[in-house]
Amino acid sequence: MSSSALSTSANNQPPYPYPCALVFGVPGAGKGTQGEILSKVPGFFHLSSGVIFRKLDSQSEEAQVVKEYSARGELAPDDVTIKIFLNWLELQSTAERFQPNEQLLLLDGIPRTINQCEILKKYIDVKMLLHFVCHDEEAMIDRIRQRAVLENRTDDASEAVTRKRFEVYHQETAPVLEYYQDVVREVDCANIQAEVLSRCLEYLVPVLKENFPRNR
Ligand code: ADP
Repeated sequence: MSSSALSTSANNQPPYPYPCALVFGVPGAGKGTQGEILSKVPGFFHLSSGVIFRKLDSQSEEAQVVKEYSARGELAPDDVTIKIFLNWLELQSTAERFQPNEQLLLLDGIPRTINQCEILKKYIDVKMLLHFVCHDEEAMIDRIRQRAVLENRTDDASEAVTRKRFEVYHQETAPVLEYYQDVVREVDCANIQAEVLSRCLEYLVPVLKENFPRNR
């Protein structure tokens, strides 16, 4: 049986909810870096909302809306965000890049508000939330300043916008931690990358084995 046949249930809907783990933390905490590395490990499929948003066709209405909000350091509206996310996920699944029956979905940047958690309830089953704990936000702002030089990101363009993103994180995103409090695991983001990776794997591998016992 092909994996696409496997990944489609009797009523022809994707096998929602997908088991997943969330990578969570303030901007600059290193979620994207670890997600990139973990996406190379068999069994994990990494998806970053920020990356998807930056890949949208810049002429599309959705891209314009997202850009308008992110340039101010604000979150895009939940309805647009969810629509882009689900469309993209299904595209990846149809193209068999994401294999829901074999891969644990690693989500970075979504859900980012309590409302998004509620809407996504029927699509994702959050097995674990890896909280990249940060004790020094100024160090994160420094990291973002350096990243702005390397990547052409409008939301990294000014320090005022970066600070706004931290404010939004504390007001709108941090409550998500409480929402998933039963499955939170903490990882200190000040550690060297290899150690952060090692901690992530220590937590994630059991989740992978439990949900995908046949994964190799
Ligand atoms: P960060 O550096 O804060 O981790 P991201 O690269 O994840 O930023 O996202 C960049 C921008 O895209 C955010 O500032 C926000 O405007 C928008 N965005 C990303 N994910 C979401 C989401 N789940 N809900 C609303 N807006 C989002």
